[in-house]
Amino acid sequence: MAISTEEQRVLAGVATGLLIGGEWRHARSGKELDVEDPATAEVLVSVADGGTDDALDALDAAAHAQASWAATAPRYRAEILRSAFEAIMAKQDDLALLMTLEMGKPLAESKGEVAYAAEFFRWFSEEAVRVKGEYYRSPDGLTKVLTSRSPVGPSYMITPWNFPLAMGTRKIGPALAAGCTVILKPAEQTPLCSLALGQILTEAGLPAGVLNIVNTSQPGEVTDRLIDDHRLRKLSFTGSTEVGKMLMRKASSNLLRLSMELGGNAPLIVFSDADLDKAIPGAIFAKMRNGGEACTSANRILVHKDLAQAFSERLAEELSKMKVARGTTPGAQVGPLIDQDALVKVSGLLDDATALGGRVLTGGSRVGDHGYFYAPTVLTGVPRNARIFREEIFGPVAPIYAFDDDDEAYAVANDTNYGLVSYIFTESFKRVHQAIDALQSGMVGVNQGLVSNAAAPFGGVKHSGFGREGGFEGINEYLDVKYAALNLS
Ligand code: NAP
Repeated sequence: MAISTEEQRVLAGVATGLLIGGEWRHARSGKELDVEDPATAEVLVSVADGGTDDALDALDAAAHAQASWAATAPRYRAEILRSAFEAIMAKQDDLALLMTLEMGKPLAESKGEVAYAAEFFRWFSEEAVRVKGEYYRSPDGLTKVLTSRSPVGPSYMITPWNFPLAMGTRKIGPALAAGCTVILKPAEQTPLCSLALGQILTEAGLPAGVLNIVNTSQPGEVTDRLIDDHRLRKLSFTGSTEVGKMLMRKASSNLLRLSMELGGNAPLIVFSDADLDKAIPGAIFAKMRNGGEACTSANRILVHKDLAQAFSERLAEELSKMKVARGTTPGAQVGPLIDQDALVKVSGLLDDATALGGRVLTGGSRVGDHGYFYAPTVLTGVPRNARIFREEIFGPVAPIYAFDDDDEAYAVANDTNYGLVSYIFTESFKRVHQAIDALQSGMVGVNQGLVSNAAAPFGGVKHSGFGREGGFEGINEYLDVKYAALNLS
């Protein structure tokens, strides 16, 4: 499929090097990495493929810039973030197109992600000037306690492909606001949005070395080299639980501060008193946002037995009407999965569920024979031991389980190692409070299928990780508390 003139213009405008010490440069090895369009499996552009030497150069630059960046006035840092927020919004259409090209999501969703991503810069520009300490008398009355907060230091950030811009700004915003320098390693499938972000922050006046970007096809080698270096002080990771656990073990040798935003297996509970006019659109949003390729995606839909049939039929009808197409196609609602492996995984989960008795109400197969498209799918009668209930689906498949009572719903919902987000639909105020207490997750969506909000603390419990991004909590991930004991007698 030919790339349009508009697409060529946007691709031609994006940097393709590594950003190190304020310069855009090739990898020392001269190697390049191809970026593919998942809708066509064709190469869009090649970018520099950094290795361990480049990563060390980036750490040199970040370590060198750390003291002067930490010494800047909070207002100065805030204004750079604020300018970058405005620049992202001014370029919203181009960034959205770039995102759709490298990641596949429909343009309307990409525009939404660009605005969401920009919001982290606005929010943390406001938080940069509100870092506080405390001063109080100790209980024995003899001393005063003084606390202050200072940046943790050079921070290494690893981001996934599914939200190519927002996963970066959600980490970079608080780090820069706190006074930390950064090395960003974007996912190798989607480096372009991060590179565009590097251009925007540079143009917004970010000093050389404060943000360094290393694209690489060797994430393990590059990461090992960085996290063993004593100058690095923080690792913030968003990605799978499996890789997160492995990185935690490695980071222990250098005792890095850690933030871990890992996988999810979100339950979406439709209680017996739910209003289906809210639950159906809520479930569609929670399931189909990003084509189901989201850590927050509703992975298990639990519906009270009295509503299960009506809910399943209505959901199947709505999903069967969704337009599956390349994200740039007018009216596209569901783009391709990210790659062939994702297609194989989703198909395998479906085969397992149907072999165990699951019934397909709509979808259930690949769409077309090139690109990685999968039909929006509704499955009923899925037993709890099916793999689809235990593993992240990361695709547009909605498995439904009918429960008898609230206790069973909570038991099923919590029967997972994950604990990122849960969704509930109910008209009962009492049930809302019971559910918030009963559900083992870091976030709960009540009568809505979306929790992401730059002003709120995003994060999980159990094997979904720890640390919070966004909200008042987010900046603390990049600050150390220092306490001074003052004897003023
Ligand atoms: P992934 O395989 O864990 O990859 C995530 C990032 O880690 C990528 O940048 C990847 O680089 C890198 N990576 C892979 N192996 C590595 C290694 N040995 N050492 C260092 N870095 C390594 O996950 P994914 O498939 O890209 O992303 C989907 C996962 O992210 C899902 O589990 C999803 O739930 C989770 N996620 C969580 C959140 C959250 O906030 N909780 C948000 C979004 C996504 P390469 O690209 O080069 O492989």
